[in-house]
Amino acid sequence: MAKVLYENDINKEVLEGKKIAVVGYGSQGHAHSLNLRESGYDVVIGLRPGKSQQKAEEDGFKVFPVAEAVKQADVVMILLPDETQPKVYEESIKDNLQAGNALVFAHGFNIHFSQIVPPADVDVFLVAPKGPGHLVRRTYEGGAGVPALFGVYQDVTGKATDIALAYAQGIGAARAGVLETTFQEETETDLFGEQAVLCGGVTSLIKAGFETLTEAGYQPEVAYFECMHEMKLIVDLLYEGGLENMRYSISDTAQWGDFVSGPRVVDAETKGRMKDILTDIQDGKFAKGWILENQAGRPQFNAINNKENKHQIETVGKELRDLMPFVKNPIDSKQKDVKV
Ligand code: NDP
Ligand code: MG
Ligand code: MG
Repeated sequence: MAKVLYENDINKEVLEGKKIAVVGYGSQGHAHSLNLRESGYDVVIGLRPGKSQQKAEEDGFKVFPVAEAVKQADVVMILLPDETQPKVYEESIKDNLQAGNALVFAHGFNIHFSQIVPPADVDVFLVAPKGPGHLVRRTYEGGAGVPALFGVYQDVTGKATDIALAYAQGIGAARAGVLETTFQEETETDLFGEQAVLCGGVTSLIKAGFETLTEAGYQPEVAYFECMHEMKLIVDLLYEGGLENMRYSISDTAQWGDFVSGPRVVDAETKGRMKDILTDIQDGKFAKGWILENQAGRPQFNAINNKENKHQIETVGKELRDLMPFVKNPIDSKQKDVKV
């Protein structure tokens, strides 16, 4: 089994007394900043004027323009959107890094695909939580954590690994487990996971199930409960105890249906297409498409997003969730301006 590190394996001293600049205060940024501060570290925020800046100030942080925050920091964590990072790096970060500083990422995309080429005299590593930012925060507050990967790309101080681990510990990840990776592995597996399984795979599966039922004349509310709402209940069982635990909880009829029908939905051809998706990620085709889409002002992204938000499963779902106050997502009420 790969070596997974926990609280007791980590030396916190390497990060103590260092100033950490967190650049960006969105999903990951707010979680890292608040968790690090509560873990005893000195954190400043780098941002442009705007909603995130207001929020960071409300949360009691000193907020500086990105260049200023970078100048005063020893450790610079870049938590800007991946597609924005190269420009902000060129304009405000690159020239303000000092020899021996640490340049840190939560995802390897820009280093792996050479969109950012760091100077040779700084440590470069990643600490990538394996979960959404709001859960990085929520689990920390509850005394737990989200697991994280760490990987060192460049180690000039000889301490990059220790600093990465201390950082991971500071955001609460060592409560759940910290695992070593490379920028290549983190980037490719993260992109694959979100496209084929976690985000793309799951949303397409849910929508296809919902549409199959509603097109056959069943009530959309019934289809919503069946294909979307209950997904969480099933995933909780998977999260807590794997496939066996989930199958223990469902009826034997459901389990038999799982065995005979699951492989008809996700068959060898589906797996073949998953392999194609992985190839596009590995050879840079996906990265190129996403970079060009951003350069063009996101025409396809916006068009698809608008269409998706109008899908019947979204309108029906909103009505039903409004009638289930316990389902209220705390993110809705607390952090309306920050996306998940
Ligand atoms: P968000 O989109 O949630 O937040 C981005 C932040 O950057 C906002 O605070 C935004 O502020 C700020 N920002 C955007 N443009 C600029 C700019 N030009 N100058 C200064 N600040 C700017 O990002 P995420 O947290 O989703 O992603 C951050 C990183 O974490 C990425 O590398 C991502 O891959 C990685 N990651 C994200 C996960 C997630 O859960 N979302 C999971 C694991 C890794 P403003 O309000 O001004 O727009
Ligand atoms: Mg991910
Ligand atoms: Mg990702």
